[in-house]
Parts: sequence; structure tokens; C-alpha cells
Amino acid sequence: MSTTGKINVQTENIFPIIKKFLYSDNEIFLRELVSNAVDATQKLKALASMGEAKGDLGDTKIEIEVDKSSKTITIKDKGIGMTKEEIEKYITQIAFSGAEEFVNKYKDKVDKNVVIGHFGLGFYSSFMVAKKVEIFSLSYKDGSKAVRWECDGSPDYQIEEISNRTQRGTNIVLHIADDCEEFLEQSKIEGLLKKYCKFLPVEIKFGTKKDWIDSGEKDDKDEPKQTEIEVDNIINNPNPAWTKKPADLKDEDYKSFYHELYPMQFEEPLFHIHLNVDYPFNLTGILYFPKLSNKLEMPKDRIQLYSNQVFVTDNVENIVPDFLTLLRGVIDSPDIPLNVSRSYLQADGNVKKISSHITKKVADKLEEIFKKDRAEFEKKWDDIKIFVQYGVISDEKFYEKAVKFSLLKTTEGKYFTFDEFENHVKPNQTDKNKKLVYLYTTNVLEQHVYIDAAKSRGYEVLIMDTMLDPHYINSLESKLKDISFVRVDSDTVEKIISKEENTISKLSEEQQKELRPVIESSVPKEQFMIVFENLSEKDSPMLITRPEFMRRMKDMNQLGGGGGMSFMGNMPEMYNLVVNSNHPLISRILEEKDAEKQKSLTKQTADLALLSQGLLKGESLTNFIKRSVELI
Ligand code: ADP
Repeated sequence: MSTTGKINVQTENIFPIIKKFLYSDNEIFLRELVSNAVDATQKLKALASMGEAKGDLGDTKIEIEVDKSSKTITIKDKGIGMTKEEIEKYITQIAFSGAEEFVNKYKDKVDKNVVIGHFGLGFYSSFMVAKKVEIFSLSYKDGSKAVRWECDGSPDYQIEEISNRTQRGTNIVLHIADDCEEFLEQSKIEGLLKKYCKFLPVEIKFGTKKDWIDSGEKDDKDEPKQTEIEVDNIINNPNPAWTKKPADLKDEDYKSFYHELYPMQFEEPLFHIHLNVDYPFNLTGILYFPKLSNKLEMPKDRIQLYSNQVFVTDNVENIVPDFLTLLRGVIDSPDIPLNVSRSYLQADGNVKKISSHITKKVADKLEEIFKKDRAEFEKKWDDIKIFVQYGVISDEKFYEKAVKFSLLKTTEGKYFTFDEFENHVKPNQTDKNKKLVYLYTTNVLEQHVYIDAAKSRGYEVLIMDTMLDPHYINSLESKLKDISFVRVDSDTVEKIISKEENTISKLSEEQQKELRPVIESSVPKEQFMIVFENLSEKDSPMLITRPEFMRRMKDMNQLGGGGGMSFMGNMPEMYNLVVNSNHPLISRILEEKDAEKQKSLTKQTADLALLSQGLLKGESLTNFIKRSVELI
């Protein structure tokens, strides 16, 4: 008996609207239909385990077939199936009224600039690619009759009982629309299955493939002979690592899962974090700290988000805190609302909780490794530093935990926690205002002279040489009490940590006045301020320094973080030329009566200072070399 019916929607023809809305994302039809097949299979297994479905379930593999000649894609499951009443109820009424609700809800809100996420569209998403859909189904229930349902995308459908189906379960047959024929390519469908269905919990077969096995015979060299056989091409791993108990997994298992997720990654991850929450929301997953290259490029291997093992997206913005988006791995949560737009995600309470939970877990794990094996942690520090620093800067909660394990690295290659470092340098690096001064370098090679001078005073110099460090320094200064960071070349070693002033000077004020114009003429006036200082005889005769605040503003400006300070970007670079009044060479310059000789002596001394800061270039450098040769 065949019946016809009318799908109960007010909109006369809903499908063109759905199709238009979701065109860019139409590939998800496959995800939706395969997930339904998985659900149907899982339901049957659950019923069987409760004794409600009788007999042997047999093979429960799901199969996907593409037939180019009949222009169909078929999704076959051996799950619970549907009776005629169930199809009418679940497929036509519920599903289609859901479609109507969806369209009504979003028709005013969705414009083409908004990237719509994923909707959990269910069965009717098949009409995004199909001009006609058939369902063949036989329910697991005793005495059920098989049914065939058909709908061409208009609100009219047909349903009838059929006698030629004996297989329990459902076949969904999509008659692919003319403008969607790309989906009739084997490679296209295989690609989509691998993208969305790679970890679904029921085996999914897509054709067959060749494999080699031991034939049991030997060849002429007495080696075991291999024979070629056809095997099922199984797309998925139904039991991915994140669904297992951490206690059942070894380090090796985590590593091999990493490579399963990212087949193109050859580098091993630094470590992993197994997430497992069931209250107040459900979440499982494994996150990996990758070894990053120095280039800050947009990573293509990103964290993947799943919902009950169905791939949803690898855009985890808002779900994972920003500073952890460079991690890799998997998050699986049925509680993340997947059927809404991203802006809604931001406001969702569950999503916020998930994000802060992940932050906490990551911090706990880092602390755990730090406590358990400090040497190992130090070894990895340079690689994980970027995450920790980013977290410290951007997330107060993370910072509260990170103070315990954040490390500072010195030019000697030693690592200190904040507390350790404070205690270590306190006696020697507290200035006369009781402020602790942390010296740092942004370039160990270029700032070598200054680092050396600082070391000779017993000062420690921290290495702060990444893109993030200027921000990190600012952030730490506001968090750690009474501490200021000063770059090692910001001032002379005498003054960089200002202690008791050395007032003994070999030069009188008159002598300084006499010398000033001579020195001024040796460097570009608009760029250098001449400053006399009473350094030790052992220090250099002249030195270039650049006040910390000047350089920092310039640095922040380059990073685009200068706020209202953008005018600084246009200012010329300003430096101090420090003249060591106590150095014998300066006295000699003063005493030199031959004006030419005095000039060249001054120039030579100033050039040496410029040279050590890498500021002597071009013609000036050439002249310096010529002059040096003459002097020798
Ligand atoms: P959802 O899966 O979100 O409930 P769908 O529109 O995809 O919405 O499906 C509606 C209902 O139809 C399902 O809840 C299920 O009861 C039934 N259904 C869909 N596909 C199958 C299938 N392959 N086997 C058995 N039942 C199915």
C-alpha cells in the first residue's frame, strides 16, 4: 500500500532556502547522514545489551557507496531501522519542522558575511546536494515490514511498504543534484569521510583496498611469500585514544595518536594533557604541546573539535583560550552548542566554563611536570615559553598558577623561578631606592660588551629575545612588586643599578665645558646627547647607551602596541654618548694641543663606542678603518 503525504510546513518550498543558506557548507550532509547511521547502530547495540533486541547482531559496519552512473550516494547502516510510522514521525514531521524553525530563526540574522558554523542539521541537510532522497528501511522490531520513502525536495513525499528488503537497518539513497556532481567523485567522498568521520565509533567501509599478507609459502630465496588480497577500506578508528582511560595508555600510545591526527607532523610533541571532565559539563580530549618553529605562522595543524567523535571544526576560537590555540590535539564535548553561530558561542556559559577548565588543566599539568622533573621541564622551557608567557600576559587565572613554574633564563643558561630569581639577585641588584633591577638582554651577541660589564659587577642578565618579550616585561612589571626591567645597555654599568653615587671626578666643570664641543663635533648632534660620568678607569672611555624608556616606547610602537605613543615611531633614534671623566684617554684628549690630533683622537674614541653598539656603518665605518690603520 502506498500513501502520499504533505510535509507540514508553512513555507511552500523550504529546500531552496536551506540550500541557499548553507551552500558553502553543503559537504556536511555526509557528516549528518553518517552520524545518523552511527546513532542507529549504537542504539541497536544498546538495545541488544539490555536484551531488547534479540539474536546475533552480525556485522554492523556502515557502508558508503558512490555510483557515478546512477548519480547516487548510498549510506547503509545495519542499525535499528525505522517502521513506516517512525519515518513519518521522525523524518517528515520532526525533521522538517526543525528546518522551518531554523529558517525562521535565522532568515533575518544571516547575511553572507557571517560565517555560519555548523548546525547539526540532521537528515534534511541531504537536500543541500540531492534532488531526490530515498529511504529504504527495516526496523529491528519483530514482524516489521520494510518501507521505502521518497521525497524530491518539494513538500510532498511518498511512502510505501516493500517486500524485497530483508536486511535490518536503513539505506539512504541520495540522487545527487546536477550542480553538485563533484560529490560523485570517489576521492571527494573519501576525503570528506576522512575529515568528518575519522574517529566515529562504528566501523565505516568505503569500498575495498589492496593489502599484502603472508601466503604461508616461501619464494625461491626461501623468504616468506606475500600475496595480494582485497580488504575492506575502513575509513575510521572507532576507538581513538581520547576515549580511553589515561591509565590504559602509555606514552607511546599518545605519541602515535598524535601522528594519527597529524600525519604530516614528523616532530614529536613535547608532552600531552589528557582531559576528562564529566561535571558540570562533559568533555574529553587530549591536548599536545607541539614543538613550534620560530616563525609565527598560522598553524594548519590545529586543535580539532569533536562532538561524540563526530568532527565539527578545527576552528576552536572561543572554546580554547587564545593563548592555547597553538596547541594541538582533540577536544570532544557533546555540550558545546554546535548549531549556533560563533558570536553566540562567546556568550554561552558552558563554553566559558570549558575554556577556563582547559586553562586550569594546562596550568596544572605544567606545574606537575615542573615539580616532578625540573631538569626535564627546563629542557623544554624554551619551547613552551611562548605559551606560558602569552598566558601570563592575557589570563590572570593562568598567571596565578604560572608564578610557580614560570622560568627566567640567564645568559649563563641558568633557570630561575620568579621567587628564586628575586632572592638570588636581591643583595646585589637592589638600587638605592630599594627597587630591584632585573637586567636583560635582547641580543646576547650584539650587547656582549654590556653583558660583560654587568657580569664583572656580579649582576645576572636575563635573556629576553623573543617577539613577545617586550609585552611580557611590561606585564611582569605590573605584577611583580618593586621590580623594574632594564636593558643591559640602557646605561653605563655604574649607573644601570644606581647605588651610591661616585662623586670623584678627574675632570673639573671647566674642563668638561672645554671638552664638550670637541666631542659634540665627533658625532651627529641631533642623535646623541653628551653626558659626562664618573666611571672607573677600567671602564671604557666612551659608551653609547639608550635610555630604557625611550627604547621601550619605540619597541612597543613597532609591535603596534604603543597606544597613543605612535608619534614615537617617527622620532629619530636618540642615544647618550657617555664620556668617562675618569678614563686616562679622556684626560689625554683634553691635554692635546694640536687641534687636528685632538679631533682625530676624539673621533676614534667615539667611533669605538659606536662600533660596539653596531651603530658604525657605511662611510663612517670606512673612515674609521682607515684612521685605525694610520694610527697603528
Ligand atoms: P537528529 O539526528 O538531530 O535527531 P535527523 O533529522 O537527522 O535529526 O533525524 C531525525 C530522526 O530520524 C532521528 O532522531 C532518528 O530517530 C531518525 N533517523 C534518522 N536517520 C536514521 C537511520 N539511519 N536509522 C534509524 N533512524 C534514523
